[in-house]
Amino acid sequence: GTLADRLARGVGNVTDTLSETFFEPTLRLGVTGLSRAGKTVFITSLVANLLDRGRMPQLAAEAESRILAAYLQPQPDDTIPRFDYETHLSALTAREPHWPDSTRAVSELRLSLKVRPTGLLAGLQGPRTLHLDIVDYPGEWLLDLALLDTSFEDWTAATLARLPQRPGAEAYLAMAAAEDASADFTEPRARALADSFTTALNTAREAGFSDCTPGRFLLPGEKAGSPALTFAPLPKPDSPPRRSLWREMERRYEAYKAQIVKPFFRDHFSRIDRQIVLVDALGAIHAGPAALEDLRRTMAGILGAFRPGGNAFLTQLLRGRRVEKILFAATKADHLHHSQHPRLTAIMEALTREARDRARFAGAETSSMSLAALRATVEQTVAHQGQDLDCVRGTLLNPDGTRGRQAAFHPGALPQDPAHLLAPAREGAPRWLDEDYQIMRFAPAALTLKPGEGPPHIRLDRAAQFLIGDRL
Ligand code: GDP
Repeated sequence: GTLADRLARGVGNVTDTLSETFFEPTLRLGVTGLSRAGKTVFITSLVANLLDRGRMPQLAAEAESRILAAYLQPQPDDTIPRFDYETHLSALTAREPHWPDSTRAVSELRLSLKVRPTGLLAGLQGPRTLHLDIVDYPGEWLLDLALLDTSFEDWTAATLARLPQRPGAEAYLAMAAAEDASADFTEPRARALADSFTTALNTAREAGFSDCTPGRFLLPGEKAGSPALTFAPLPKPDSPPRRSLWREMERRYEAYKAQIVKPFFRDHFSRIDRQIVLVDALGAIHAGPAALEDLRRTMAGILGAFRPGGNAFLTQLLRGRRVEKILFAATKADHLHHSQHPRLTAIMEALTREARDRARFAGAETSSMSLAALRATVEQTVAHQGQDLDCVRGTLLNPDGTRGRQAAFHPGALPQDPAHLLAPAREGAPRWLDEDYQIMRFAPAALTLKPGEGPPHIRLDRAAQFLIGDRL
């Protein structure tokens, strides 16, 4: 019957109706980060641990035994690819475990949690259900937001100024310098330029540089090869004619913004309630000061997306809606002994300070931490030249992807004061995580999980508490 009918029949029925109709809330959790930051591993381990509720003591609802059931359900969005949880989990839990395939595009998974409420309502209500919609998307796509306010001419100038400081850009720069951009447009020239530019972006990314926009050039999804992804920065000729290469490149750049960047923000980004931004801070520290400075600027860029008022298009799109909580997490903390983790968290805080100040201004609650979604190492203290060295031990991954030998490493100490890392690179300045870190590519540890046990992790439960704990 209607709510009014039930009202007439008594209070018990009313609370039933209310809980069915009104108290079955959904929460959209965005998971982002640049490629290889650890999004796929994070979601897989989070979902496995929530489904099995095995290793989540820092998640208050779990510690209080209030999570009665957790199950996967069909997601509400029919046209977004489903996050391939089962395949990723079986990669990590196989007899010969291997890392799953990384995020290439947006995907989604719905995990429903049946919880016993706390506090005043606990006596009145039966169990509630929270639908957690986890949305995985490349951080590269967020960086494209800045393009919306940038003309092709300005973007070209900024990009061509940035490229020479990066490895692997020589070929493209030579090609762009030799190009007559006022000549008639031809598709093969556009293709050759776009390919060479994409190679330069990929090389910079592999060398540890973070800001490699346009984001879809690195992760094109199903748009690969379309005209909107076939352009490249070219210096503006004096007065480029209508059919010139330069004019067509400009038109395609505008198409990229209108038809690729804007729909992503409209269809996916604008609906997110909570956000975790995963950062491979250790990788950037290892890659050196230039990569780290680039990461710091990139974090500020990513957070630009969470600052209302920063961008006219977004302001209009969100109409006052906002992300309530943002967590910045340094991933792969199992590469370091736990005695180093507070320093990694402090670095993460320093890296995102500017970004966090902006988010706070916008009313979002923010926090930083270091975690490992899937712990691949154990700790070991080794006597070395009369000193105790805090090491981590794990199974190395051979370059061909097979499992190698077990080894213990001491990748070096992180600085106590993050300022030492983030200061502009000087002659003779110390480098951090230099030698051993290079070879610390671990395979996932072989797991023998008992029933009800999730994969081992570091602080994944603390992350979950921050992100969703208040809604359970
Ligand atoms: P994505 O591109 O953000 O989806 O990144 P992935 O989740 O695929 O992670 C990229 C790689 O980082 C993995 O293949 C692993 O080698 C490594 N990785 C991710 N998470 C962890 C972790 O918790 N511990 C360790 N040791 N390595 C990790």
